Amino acid sequence: MVQKNTEVISMDCVFCKIVKGDIPCQKLYENDKILAFLDISPIHKGHTLIIPKEHHENILDMPDETLAELAKTTKKISKAVKEATNADGFNVTQNNGAAAGQAVFHFHTHIIPRFDGDGLKTWPHKDIPEEEMKRIQEDIASFLKD
Ligand code: AMP
Ligand code: ZN
Repeated sequence: MVQKNTEVISMDCVFCKIVKGDIPCQKLYENDKILAFLDISPIHKGHTLIIPKEHHENILDMPDETLAELAKTTKKISKAVKEATNADGFNVTQNNGAAAGQAVFHFHTHIIPRFDGDGLKTWPHKDIPEEEMKRIQEDIASFLKD
């Protein structure tokens, strides 16, 4: 990792290389903190990635200010993606950790255009007993106490 003024980059990160211009991308939008470009292996045409220009591995590493800016930008770009692709809907999704399917360890949000009857399945759901639901509710809530 190299820190240069406010610039934080990781030498072996593919998205840092895109930010630096060392490898190409189909750029859609950028400002001083954020870059959006087409996913190289799209789920549907128009599948977009939005990244911070600084290298942060996942949502827990993201500075709050950058995350807030990224959320606003995601809304703006989602509208453009939906309109340009004539999508019926879209997913905004973001993977954290290999177990969650993260393959590139530089924070990124996916915008995936969706079409009525496009056949993409959502995740399966589980039936969890009520006592277990209560326990996990209490456990998570306990980590949210000030
Ligand atoms: P994730 O599984 O959430 O880490 O997603 C990583 C995404 O990055 C995948 O959808 C890849 O297709 C995409 N990707 C990897 N390399 C590139 C690249 N050079 N340009 C554009 N998208 C890329
Ligand atoms: Zn990076």
